Amino acid sequence: MVERAGDRHRSAQEDAPVADAGSSRQRGAAPKFDKKTIALVYDFDGTLSPRPMQDYTFLPKIGADAAAFWAESNALAKKTQADPLITYMHLMYKKAQAKGVRIDRSDLVAQGRRVALYPGVKDWFDLVAGYVKSHAQSHGVGLRHYLISSGLTEIIEGTPIYKRFHNVFASEYWFEAYDLPYPKRVITDTGKTQYLFRINKGVEDLGESINQHMAEDARPIPFANMIYFGDGDTDVPSMAVMRKNGGHAIAVYPPGKSKAKCVELFKAGRCDFFAPADYRKGSDLFQRTCLLLDRMLADIRCQEEMWRLGRGVGVARK
Ligand SMILES: [Mg+2]
Repeated sequence: MVERAGDRHRSAQEDAPVADAGSSRQRGAAPKFDKKTIALVYDFDGTLSPRPMQDYTFLPKIGADAAAFWAESNALAKKTQADPLITYMHLMYKKAQAKGVRIDRSDLVAQGRRVALYPGVKDWFDLVAGYVKSHAQSHGVGLRHYLISSGLTEIIEGTPIYKRFHNVFASEYWFEAYDLPYPKRVITDTGKTQYLFRINKGVEDLGESINQHMAEDARPIPFANMIYFGDGDTDVPSMAVMRKNGGHAIAVYPPGKSKAKCVELFKAGRCDFFAPADYRKGSDLFQRTCLLLDRMLADIRCQEEMWRLGRGVGVARK
């Protein structure tokens, strides 16, 4: 099944402005300041879920110990100088085949239901929407959530939060082309940054090239309106792209466990904040996210006023 990113499920809730446009009447084609969409972008494994998503069902189903599997996969990639992500995608199915276990696309989707999420993740989307709605001083502010993961699209589809994302960019298999499923799209650590630019430029259809030049003021979601959430070294390229372009990043660590990696990222200037991966209301993560949202909402209000002022004196601002 070929599915374009632009065709993916979109929740009307995420697309709709969370700050009510009020009772203002439509004024035909009157120009409006349109850089009012905020995008929260998440890594999955270790960020929204405590373990790699394959650990919950796929690996136990083929009788593989998760730690041993990842050690073998990483060693194999190193030894053969193969891409580590292509290596794991191949090795999983090689082992499944050797065990005589057939796992098709719908099996992977079903596995998504068994993936554990960090506390509060399921309610986070409504929580943040509520915050933006009550704090936006500008009408028509929109909020979107995106997922960029090296994990598997099929498993993510089965999770209860899939529908909360405006778009999901993740690794994926071809299931029809070969006996063994073949990687169709592999999202590497550095490859993740491509999707940040797709969100920034509004080019989410993966059939369209991302490489054409687009002037900064023509880009629908400025980096300044984006927060990236990640948990480790695999997020460094994305965090670096975010922060170098005026965006924001938050690093998370397992509640009650070591925060050493986050401290390292923070000291290296990779993230604005770090916090335990507890997404419940009142948590450090929620409060620090709200601080960045406050800054963004103020900035949107400010930019909108500048835009209005500029138009009044004949300065053409997008
Ligand atoms: Mg991760």
